[in-house]
Amino acid sequence: MTDFRIGHGYDVHALADGLRLVLGGVEIPHSKGCVAHSDGDVAIHALCDALLGAAALGDIGLHFPDSSDEFRGINSRILLRRVAALLREKGYEIGNVDCTIQMQRPKLRPYIDRMREAMAADLGIGADRVSVKATTTERLGFEGREEGVSVSAVALIFRP
Ligand code: MG
Repeated sequence: MTDFRIGHGYDVHALADGLRLVLGGVEIPHSKGCVAHSDGDVAIHALCDALLGAAALGDIGLHFPDSSDEFRGINSRILLRRVAALLREKGYEIGNVDCTIQMQRPKLRPYIDRMREAMAADLGIGADRVSVKATTTERLGFEGREEGVSVSAVALIFRP
């Protein structure tokens, strides 16, 4: 019988003026970017946690500690590839993933398909199995005040 697993991930990064904004592996022109030890790709971080959670393999902080110089400024796509490789080592295939980015500005619609393609390539699956959605929070909360970005992600994995 196929061993199906689901996982959930959530991550938040603060926004600050003059930093690069990278989401889902795509650099997005904006006046603010995420404060982080890595490139601050909060979408990929949430997705890594969803995938690791599905396999009960801990979280991104356990595998890639932000106290380590190895991960300073690292392209988060490298982390996503490593998580996918770890799951395959354990015998898992990735079924599908779904991310929701909560951010007031800028409008992310023009970048969504590129994010899907980038993350699908890193996961070794088709872009039709990678969903990225974006929503504002109607100006409510830290996302609405443009103080930060939050991302929720879910992942389905299975061992055939
Ligand atoms: Mg993070």
